[in-house]
Formats: sequence, C-alpha cells, structure tokens
Amino acid sequence: SGVQPSQLKHAFGGPAFDAYAIRNDFPILVKEKVNGKSLVWLDNAATTQKPQLVIDRISSFYQHENSNIHRAAHELAARATDAYEAAREKVRAFLGARSANEIIFVRGATEAINLVAQSWGEQHLAPGDEIIVSHLEHHANIVPWKRLADKKGLTLKVIPVDDDGQILLDAYAKLLTPKTRLVAFTQVSNALGTVTPAQQIIAMAHAAGAKVLVDGAQSVSHIPVNVQALDADWFAFSGHKVFGPTGIGVLYGKEHLLNATEPWQGGGNMIKDVTFEEIQYHPAPNRFEAGTGNIADAVGLGAAIDYVTKIGLPAINQYEHWLLEYATYHMKQIPGLRLIGTAPDKASVLSFNLKGHSNDEVGKALNKEGIAVRTGHHCAQPILRRMGVETSVRPSLAFYNTCEDVDRLVSTLWRLVK
Ligand code: PLP
Repeated sequence: SGVQPSQLKHAFGGPAFDAYAIRNDFPILVKEKVNGKSLVWLDNAATTQKPQLVIDRISSFYQHENSNIHRAAHELAARATDAYEAAREKVRAFLGARSANEIIFVRGATEAINLVAQSWGEQHLAPGDEIIVSHLEHHANIVPWKRLADKKGLTLKVIPVDDDGQILLDAYAKLLTPKTRLVAFTQVSNALGTVTPAQQIIAMAHAAGAKVLVDGAQSVSHIPVNVQALDADWFAFSGHKVFGPTGIGVLYGKEHLLNATEPWQGGGNMIKDVTFEEIQYHPAPNRFEAGTGNIADAVGLGAAIDYVTKIGLPAINQYEHWLLEYATYHMKQIPGLRLIGTAPDKASVLSFNLKGHSNDEVGKALNKEGIAVRTGHHCAQPILRRMGVETSVRPSLAFYNTCEDVDRLVSTLWRLVK
C-alpha cells in the first residue's frame, strides 16, 4: 500500500490506530485473492473474519484438550472443562456481568432470543400482556416475539423511528403501559447502523415494570458493553460477529431471572437428579445448556475476546467512528447515491442505493474488484420498508478496514456512475 498509519493520521486527522498491523493477524485478509484482487472485506455486519490466534486456539483444543466436559474423571476432561469455563469467564468480563453463572453458551444471537421467548416468555406471559420491539429489529428479534404473541394472545407493539432511522423516545414512552412485560430491542441496527439510546430505553422499560432484552449482535464488536451499567435483563450476541467462530454465541441473563425460569431444552448436563417420577435441575448456567455444547468454539470465542480486549474497544470505537465518517463523506460525493440510515449516532454500516443501478448489479461490480458487501434485505425487512426501499447495498466496517478499503469501494462506485 505504501500508506502508513502515521501518515493516515496526518493526512485525515484520524486517530493513531494501527489497522495495518491488525490486518496482518487475519490470514484471509492478507493472503486471499478474489477475482485476482486482494480481498476487501466489507461484509462485517454479516460475519467477521478470524485472526490466526483464534484459528490456532480451536486447532490446539482438538490437538491437546478434546474431551466432553464435566462428565469424566480423566485428564482431558479436566482440560476441556477448564478451557470451556475459562471462556465463560472471559465472556463474563467482556460483558461486565456480575457472575459467570449469568453466561449461557448458545449457538448465536438467534438461539439466545428464541431461548428467552420459549422459556421465560412461554412461562411468564399471559394473554393481553404486551411486548415492545423497535422498528429497527433484525428478524431474529421480531419473529420469536411475533410467534409467541400469536400463540399466547399477546400484543406486539413497535417503537417508531424518524426518517434518519433514530428511535423516537417520546413515541416509545407512550407505548409503555402497565401491561408491558418485555421490551426487546437492538443496540445497533444491522441494516442502518443506528446506535440506539439503550440506557434510556432500558430505564424507561424498568420504570414501567417491564423486563428488557438487548440484541447485542451488532454492538459488541464496535461499542464497549457493560450489562450491569446498562441494567439489561438479558443480552444476546453471536461469536462470529466478534471475530470468533460460527455456531457459538451467548445469552447473558440476570442470575435470579435465569434461576426463576424453567429450562428450555431437556437432556444431559442440566440436571441434578433424575428419576422417572421427578427431575431436579441445576441452577444457571447448566440449567440452560442441555446436551453437549460447542466446546471447541466456545474456547475459540474466548480467544477472540482476549484479542479484542487487548486492542481495546474504546480505541476500536474511536477508529471505526473516524473511518465511518471518512467513508460517509466520500460516498456522499457520488451522484445518485442515497445513504439509507443517517442517524448522527451510527456504527460501521453504510447502507445505500445507487440511482439507475440495481443492488445486484452494484454487488456484482464490487465483487469483480474483490470487494465483499452484502446486498438484499439484511433480514430486517420492516426497517428497510420504513426507509422506502425493499433492499440495499450494505458495506459494513470493522477495525481491520482501512482508508484504502474505502477508497477501493468508492472508486468502483464512481466507475459505475460515470
Ligand atoms: N440481531 C442482529 C442485529 C443481527 O445483525 C443478527 C445477524 O445478522 C442477528 C441478530 C442474528 O445473529 P445470528 O444469525 O448470528 O444468530
């Protein structure tokens, strides 16, 4: 490239953050060619790439520690259990949770939300109760609640947004009633990038006597999160969106709430005692981890969290914010480009349409240059429709992206419009 981070800082006033050094930790970013071009990965909202140390940690687990956990009295069972529980502790620290008992390993954010809907929701909600979601939600935070509402005769209400894609807090205040039992909302919109006023939304829900689930799928890789400061009752995220493996994710829940909820699935690992007459369950987290979990990938997620924590989310957030502004500025110069989602507080997503060009066409033109973006409805149809479109092109940034990545995106778009 020839452009060094210090020069970038000088040239664009950006923070001193060595994204070029970070890129070197990601083999796919360094070595992989797509259509003969070096890869520009701008599909981070869909999934993130994995640093070598995460890949190595999973490989090392299978080479030196592989065993089922908790059950056997042999050395490898002890190693595997230690590695798995160490990963749980890393997640606890990452989220600022009070106890590792509050950290449940699941498949991902989708499974975490379904777990809450199908256990707590099934058990504690009654006909006439109200659930509030926001207009920004990913389908993963709509469908489980809509299904539950239809099944149990609940009312599903929606917090509206303005034309920039920001939550309307006054309208939200009016939706809260004594019947509101749950508010479930995203901390960062995957389709628009809007950062929601999570602290306020939660405080208002609690003042109305409702519980709160925060979908953190798009936030944990961009924003420092502390579930105790937020006072979230549940918080869900996916490992693969925070530089960890696929197939592993986390549900945080307040310990008393988890233990006051009947298990979701039944099987091994989660029981204290079984007879054909009676079953006694373990407390959380085991209560919600029936069967053999994704042990190796939980360990891999622990390594990813170590990696991100070492770089530091405050520094990551500052750098990405600056890169988002750089990208926004340059994309706005392109004639016929409409940015979808223009909230002042955004994280790392640049949804757009390009006049005269279908989203498919734009996606293909970018792919030809080795630039990966997502096109489509991003599993968030209600919010795209609210913005007046069915689909968009969605570049999304991570801390390993650079000005050069953005420049390659922007110059390809310029070539298309000329
Ligand atoms: N919530 C949001 C905001 C998301 O962006 C996503 C994934 O795109 C999900 C939930 C679902 O995550 P997963 O598919 O990893 O379960």
